[in-house]
Amino acid sequence: MKIDTLIHARWIIPVEPENTVYENYALAIKNDKIIALLSSDDARKKFTSTEELVLEHHALIPGLINAHTHAAMSLFRGIANDLPLMDWLNNHIWPAEKKWIDPQFVKDGTKLAIAEMLRSGTTCFNDMYFFPDSTAEICAGVGMRAMIGLIIIDLPTLWANSSDEYLAKGEYVHDSFRHNPLISTAFAPHAPYTVSDDSLKRIAVLAEELDIQIHMHIHETSDEINQSINQYGKRPLDRLSELGLLSSRLIAVHMTQLEKNEIAKVRKLGVSIVHCPESNLKLASGFCPVGELHDNNINVCIGTDGAASNNDLDMLGEMRTATLLAKGIANDSTCSDVHKTLKMATLNGAKALGLSESIGSLKKGKQADIVALNLNQLETTPLYEPLSQIIYASDRQQVSDVWIAGKRLLKDKKLITLNSEELIENAKLWQEKIKNNYSKN
Ligand SMILES: [Zn+2]
Repeated sequence: MKIDTLIHARWIIPVEPENTVYENYALAIKNDKIIALLSSDDARKKFTSTEELVLEHHALIPGLINAHTHAAMSLFRGIANDLPLMDWLNNHIWPAEKKWIDPQFVKDGTKLAIAEMLRSGTTCFNDMYFFPDSTAEICAGVGMRAMIGLIIIDLPTLWANSSDEYLAKGEYVHDSFRHNPLISTAFAPHAPYTVSDDSLKRIAVLAEELDIQIHMHIHETSDEINQSINQYGKRPLDRLSELGLLSSRLIAVHMTQLEKNEIAKVRKLGVSIVHCPESNLKLASGFCPVGELHDNNINVCIGTDGAASNNDLDMLGEMRTATLLAKGIANDSTCSDVHKTLKMATLNGAKALGLSESIGSLKKGKQADIVALNLNQLETTPLYEPLSQIIYASDRQQVSDVWIAGKRLLKDKKLITLNSEELIENAKLWQEKIKNNYSKN
């Protein structure tokens, strides 16, 4: 049988079935899909391919899914550090956004972010930002898979002035990209403290009608809980529950403040939780109880959050932080392991996004979103267990190749659809403009 690409690898870690590592296996790709995963010997007998690769020192894993970020904020990386969330937002990020955000900023920032994500093995990201049409356009052009958040916030911005306008523009973006196989959309109400009851009710209804997810920051800090109790007389999750938002459509980001009854409710209603450990640590927002969520069979995935609060978009680093932090918080080194951690960053992310039929594992019939890591390096030898090396000892240096929908976007560490030198030069131009010039004036 004639196929497009046959990739032989020393190890293949498919995520489905669980806890599995194949040795000397191959992935067969035709068009945008994986059509077989089998031993290299059998693959050579069964297929002839246009391109055949032998990666004798590499492990293949499913493309990593960054389940929460604000890609364009890569241009704000490092402008305000070492502050608590509300000071960071009110006195630095929101003034900077008010001054600089426009379609060009979003396009340039998104390109820079995609380059960084590809170089660290991310093949899909769940975004929340202004000018989502610009984000989607860049992803489609580069060949990056993304879930584009249709942002809603009760603040006038250059993108929209009122909740009506945010919703109308969001629906337009949804319609514009609905036939693009790499792009999906979700409503993205910013947070309980920035979106009104009326808007949230409408979002719950519209998400059903359009059959799309809802992506929202929830229970990020204890201040958020206190503010909600003062303003509404209830905790944010209770309020969202009454407004009809808690369901398997909801992608709840952060969730550092959870009581026992809330964990039970989240489990019962099938809400997915995105853990963003490095952002939570940097802003000292609190700790998501990942071990306890695992014990309750809640779908937990991993996100980097934006580059202004992390400050990188590196899912390999985020996986390591997530698993180490989970063990520390639970005071139990067995509450997380390397396979569970990779699953959080792949299949669980796909499930949260409603895309687990097509991405999240290396399985026949799924999209060919694949990452190759070269483990024949100083930092990853000797090698007793490949996934242990990936989770606990690798960084971006190990990522050599990345495919999305069967297309190779990173080849021997070189970006194919983006120009690194141009991205660096352009980011420097933004740096000169933004530097010392993001305050309220
Ligand atoms: Zn965020």
